[in-house]
Amino acid sequence: MGISNEMLAAKVEEIAEHVIHMRRALHRIPELAFCEEKTAAYIAEQLDKIGIPYQKGVAKTGVVALIEAKNAEKTLLIRADMDALPMDEKKDCEFSSIHAGRMHACGHDAHTAVLLGAAEILWQLKEHLSCNVKLLFQPAEEGVGGALPMIEEGVMENPTVTAALALHVMNDAKVGTVALKPDGIMACPDEFDLKVIGKGGHAAYPELCINPISVVSEIVLAFSELANKLNRPERPVVISVCGVQAGTTAHNIIPETAQILGTVRLYDKTIRAEIPGLLEEIIREKAEKYGARYEWDYRLMYPPLINDEAMTKEVSRLLSEILGEEQVGVCKASMGGEDFAYFTERVPGVYFNLGTGNAEKGIDMPLHSPDFKIDEDALKIGVLAFCKVALEYK
Ligand SMILES: [Zn+2]
Ligand SMILES: [Zn+2]
Repeated sequence: MGISNEMLAAKVEEIAEHVIHMRRALHRIPELAFCEEKTAAYIAEQLDKIGIPYQKGVAKTGVVALIEAKNAEKTLLIRADMDALPMDEKKDCEFSSIHAGRMHACGHDAHTAVLLGAAEILWQLKEHLSCNVKLLFQPAEEGVGGALPMIEEGVMENPTVTAALALHVMNDAKVGTVALKPDGIMACPDEFDLKVIGKGGHAAYPELCINPISVVSEIVLAFSELANKLNRPERPVVISVCGVQAGTTAHNIIPETAQILGTVRLYDKTIRAEIPGLLEEIIREKAEKYGARYEWDYRLMYPPLINDEAMTKEVSRLLSEILGEEQVGVCKASMGGEDFAYFTERVPGVYFNLGTGNAEKGIDMPLHSPDFKIDEDALKIGVLAFCKVALEYK
């Protein structure tokens, strides 16, 4: 017997309060990348209660649980990230962070609670699954990246993962809705550091110096010109200089060095391959013009996150079926980065936005803000969405 949408919705409703409770418990104990010890212990405790077998300590603090279906040929991986941010929360509710300088301001507490909720229901309904479901609680999404270390430790095997699914809370989408799009949904967040070495000296005699600030100024402007040249609506390119560090606080000293750092965000593979060279060409030209030297470091970070076209279509259809067509929107491609991209590089995958905003309740603050909140009514929508896709994947 299949599970009707009504039956599934009723099951989710039954645990909705519990999911909110779990999210609040996790919200109180935010932990940084690869330090999610208490979080992992909490996840393990919940999985023990449900009775799902799992493995702890994958990529240090990650947890992987497995629900096996009889004679299944396919395995759906569902991923929740679980790390928090190094910032202070504006404490104004009873479940505010108890860890100084740590906050769940990106909603990864919600992602974890939603996946635990889905775990409970899918375990109860495992006789109805046509695929295995691998539940991945991933450390370190913010910056460092826990997805790749988990893959390197073998999470894509035993059983072999054939598709991947994840969500992210989003306050610019209204609670009750979800939004997704095929193809590129999150950009690559590559990083660069540049140090220009000039020749310091007395500011009264600039002709005897090589002022690295002049060199860096020209480079910053040329970077933004390059971004303007490459950027297209259908192929966005962002180059942001985010820091300038230059020398002295005195009015009469020209510094020896100047540094800049920043990020490049884009989707296009060809441009991604070319851009470090294009940027260095600018740097070389400006440095030569002034006779300065430079040290240049360009780092490729997470790949762009690409939603599989066919799977996006299918997930949209399933979510429309269970949430109502008008609740399933199309989102824009974001210039943010997301290490779920490592999974979708290997298997077809879908990443969707879970609407958590509610203007009437004043919940419209962006991710990473110190008073970040979500409308917790969205949590059950997330559970429902994960369960529906898992139950239909074959
Ligand atoms: Zn974040
Ligand atoms: Zn996040």
